[in-house]
Amino acid sequence: MPTPFDNSFVNLPTSFYMCQNPVPVAAPALVKFNHDLAREIGLDESDFPLEVLAGNMVPDGATPLAAAYAGHQFGNFVPQLGDGRAVLLGEVVGPDGIRRDIQLKGAGRTYFSRGGDGRAAIGPVLREYLVSEAMHALGVPTTRALAAVTTGEPVQRETPLPGAVLARVARSHLRVGSFQFHYARQDKAALEALAEYARARHYPEAEGALGLLDAVIAAQAKLIAKWMGLGFIHGVMNTDNVSIAGETIDYGPCAFMDTYHPETVFSSIDRQGRYAYVNQPKIAQWNLAQLAQTLVPLVGEVEKLEASLSRFDDLYATEFTRIFSAKLGLARVEPDFIVKTLKMMADEGVDFTLFFRRISYGLPIDELFENPVTATKWLIDWQRQTTPEALEKMKAVNPVFIPRNHRVEAALAAATHGDFAPFEQLLAVLSRPFEPQPENAIFENPPNDDERVLATFCGT
Ligand code: AMP
Ligand code: MG
Repeated sequence: MPTPFDNSFVNLPTSFYMCQNPVPVAAPALVKFNHDLAREIGLDESDFPLEVLAGNMVPDGATPLAAAYAGHQFGNFVPQLGDGRAVLLGEVVGPDGIRRDIQLKGAGRTYFSRGGDGRAAIGPVLREYLVSEAMHALGVPTTRALAAVTTGEPVQRETPLPGAVLARVARSHLRVGSFQFHYARQDKAALEALAEYARARHYPEAEGALGLLDAVIAAQAKLIAKWMGLGFIHGVMNTDNVSIAGETIDYGPCAFMDTYHPETVFSSIDRQGRYAYVNQPKIAQWNLAQLAQTLVPLVGEVEKLEASLSRFDDLYATEFTRIFSAKLGLARVEPDFIVKTLKMMADEGVDFTLFFRRISYGLPIDELFENPVTATKWLIDWQRQTTPEALEKMKAVNPVFIPRNHRVEAALAAATHGDFAPFEQLLAVLSRPFEPQPENAIFENPPNDDERVLATFCGT
């Protein structure tokens, strides 16, 4: 049976994309296939033979294309970025009625490749696989990983590395940058078509372009609050990496915080700390302002767009407070107590994930603190704000396992040398993040001094 593609993006005006087949590779080999995800979208492994996953064969019904988009990269506007190393094979509608894109990332040069080789190295492909699947298991909206294959071809980075292709599944690959592309070209008809397409596909209950903006703002406020509640740092919140569907997308130098500190940055290319943990909500709002800007020709009334944007703060604050109240098992909404707790964690150099894990299970926390007395005092304070019944709920929101950066890096380093066992093991642990797994307890731990990862590179 051919894969039941049902492609809609390809019916948009031709300025939205360039037709582009994936570029075949020398010697594909399967690293991992996500059977659970395939089942979820109503397919199985037979729909995705290795040749298809590697880009060596175009399946029946696919309409491969590279999408056009623009974007602000670290604040600088680039009028044309686009899929420089990704090809959209098409869309499938799952048994749940949800339409999803199937894209090959690392599938070779396209019209949008500029100076790049269109390829991806094994490390970044498996990082995206691990972290996106972990995010999904943690309950965060995200693109998913359907499969990873190696290409049998080296890619030249600082050193030659094994090449790989990721098969990615997303609600769509529409980005804020997709709107910016047509806005920069002052193509109002294209903007209208795109806004209507995005609205109908993702927010059918929304009305018009303004309704679309409101829905995207609400989705982003929720998404960023979830990131904050898990200590997740995206690393490259450029407007081309902001999904209209509200999913986490484009995992580059992303990482989860070990020790809590609001200014934490992982990406080696983010020297100013623009995308530091604490800046993420402000940056999200800035990115949404860029989206609002592109809708001016459609909505006309700038005040309405500004009013929508100004609602982000409240939406985000409400979500943030809700999430941290649940993490702390608070009986009543106490924003001040949350702020006080986080400040204490920063002052004391407390491990973010272990802190919430331990209080959820009634385990001692004093050894996480520089001054154990602070822990004792905090516990007394906390006990006044919570109830014993809260513990069960806390266990459902405070993960035992997150993709610790040193574990991720170790798994990727091994995979680069052909050993996929650490990747498999980490992936398995992270598929059940809320369940204590005594046999895998070591994966709960933050890095020792000699395990600490100093910089996370974009690795494109
Ligand atoms: P990213 O940093 O992955 O979000 O990508 C930013 C832009 O650079 C997008 O337009 C990508 O398609 C493009 N890009 C990244 N890596 C490559 C590559 N190896 N070859 C061609 N284009 C690339
Ligand atoms: Mg990107």
